[in-house]
Amino acid sequence: MSDDGLFLGSSAGDAAYREAMGLATDAVLDAVAAGDDPYSGASPESLAERFDDPVVPEDGKGLEATIEEVADRVLAHSVDPSSPRCAAHLQCPPSVPGLAAEAMLSATNQSLDSFDQAPAATVLEERVVDALCDLFDLPAGADGVFTSGGSQSNFQALLLARDRRCARRFDRDVQAEGLPPGADSLRVLCSEAAHFTAKQAAHHLGLGEDAVVTVPTDDRRRMAPDALEETLDDLEDRDAEPFALVGTAGTTDFGSIDPLEALADTAAERGLWFHVDAAYGGALAVSDEYGHLLEGIERADSVAVDFHKLFYQPISCGALLVRDGDAFRWMARNAAYLNPEAHDDRGVPNLVAKSVQTTRRFDALKPYVAFRALGRSGMAALVEDTLELADEAAALLESAADFELLGDPTLNAVVFRYRPREGMTDAEAGRLNAAVRRELLADGRAVVARTEVDDATSLKLTLLNPTATVEDVGAILEAVRECGSAVADARGVVA
Ligand SMILES: *Cc1c(COP(=O)(O)O)cnc(C)c1O
Repeated sequence: MSDDGLFLGSSAGDAAYREAMGLATDAVLDAVAAGDDPYSGASPESLAERFDDPVVPEDGKGLEATIEEVADRVLAHSVDPSSPRCAAHLQCPPSVPGLAAEAMLSATNQSLDSFDQAPAATVLEERVVDALCDLFDLPAGADGVFTSGGSQSNFQALLLARDRRCARRFDRDVQAEGLPPGADSLRVLCSEAAHFTAKQAAHHLGLGEDAVVTVPTDDRRRMAPDALEETLDDLEDRDAEPFALVGTAGTTDFGSIDPLEALADTAAERGLWFHVDAAYGGALAVSDEYGHLLEGIERADSVAVDFHKLFYQPISCGALLVRDGDAFRWMARNAAYLNPEAHDDRGVPNLVAKSVQTTRRFDALKPYVAFRALGRSGMAALVEDTLELADEAAALLESAADFELLGDPTLNAVVFRYRPREGMTDAEAGRLNAAVRRELLADGRAVVARTEVDDATSLKLTLLNPTATVEDVGAILEAVRECGSAVADARGVVA
C-alpha cells in the first residue's frame, strides 16, 4: 500500500497535510502582508512569461517547491481583496471564519448530491436554508438550495418560473417535452440596471435575450413602478406573455434597490413570478439599521443571495430561496443510484433534486460557521461599517474640486469621475477616466473598477472591506490623481 504522504488517514499523510497547510498559510500571509499594494501591477504579457515551463512535467518537483513557486508566480501577482485599497468589484475580503470553514469543507470533501456522501452536511444545509428563509421572512413551506452564486440562482429561479408558467398556461411539461409552441411570447421583466444574468438566463432557458424586457429606472436607478405598469400594458397589447418580474436589491454599479413592495403588488396583480436578485444587497437582512431597505422581499416567490459578496465568505457561496418549496418539482430529477432511500420514501433528504449541479460543494458550512462565530449582530456590524464608509467616501468626493460624485450611494458602491478641469465634457472626462483606470492597474497602489454611466466611463469603488478607513479612501483618490497626472503628462496635455 502506498503511504508516501499524499492522502489523509495515514500518519505520513496526516503529517504531510499539516505541513502543507502550514506552508500554504505562510505563503498566503506573505502575499497579503499589511501595507502592501493590492496589486503588483504586472501586465498580462509579463504574467504569461512567468508560466512558460510545462504545466505537466514528466516528473514532479515535490509539493514544497511547488508551493514556493505558486507563492512567487501566482500569489505575488494576485489582486488582494483583503487590502483596504482594493475596492473595485463585489470581491470581498474573505473572513477568517469563512476561511476556516473552507479548509474543513474541502478537506472532508462532502458532496451534497446524496445523503450517503454527506450525511451531516445534508442536514446542515437544510437547517441553514431554513434559517435564511426566516431571515428574509419567507413563510412556512419555503425551501432553498446552495448555489455557485447569483448567476446560478437567477438562472434556476427563472427556470422554475418558466416551467410553472408553461405547465399552467400551455399545459406543457417542459422537463419532458421541451418548450411549447407559443414559448416565443414569454417575457421576463427587470430594470435597465439589473444584472446581465437575467438576459444570460433567458438565453440558457431557450427564450433568448430578447425575451427580457428592461423597465426604465428613476433618478436613483430604481425600477420606476409607473414605467413597469406601462411596459406591462404594452406587452399585453402585443399579446406577449410576461411570466416573471425580477427586482434587484443592490444593483451591481450603484447598489440601488428597486421598490420591492410596489413590484410585489404588480407581480401579484398580474400573476407574475416575483424574483428578487439580492445577490449583493441581501446581507442588509441582518442589519437592524438597514434591513428596512429590503421591505417587500418577504413577498418574493424566490430570492437570490450571495455569501461571497457582502457576507464575507470565500468564493463560491450563494443560495436560492423559493417561497413555495413545492416549486422545486419543476426540476426534480431522481437518479436511483444517488439516493435510493429517497425512492423508498423514508424521509431521507434528496438535495440533488433541487440543484442544477450533481457533485456539489458543502458551501453552506461557511455562512454557518460565520453566523455561529459572529452572531447576527457581529455580521451586521461588518455590513453597517462599510455602508457608513461609503457615505464618508461620497462626502470626500463631493468636497473635492477635481472629483465628481455620480449619485449618493445606497449600499457601499460609490461611482465617480476624476474631472480635473472645469469645462471638460462628459466624453472627455470619460476618456480620461478610462486611461486613469488602466494606469492604476499597472501602478498597483489601488484597485478600482470602471463602469459606463450615461455612455461615458466612470470609476467605481466597492467598499466591501470593513477594515478600510476614510484615510484609505483618501489614499485611493490620491493614487487616482497621480495616475491622472501621469496620463496627462504622457499625452502632453495639462490636466
Ligand atoms: C454578483 C451579482 C450577480 C452574479 O452573481 P455571481 O455570484 O457572480 O454568479 C447577479 N446579480 C447581482 C445583482 C450581483 O451583484
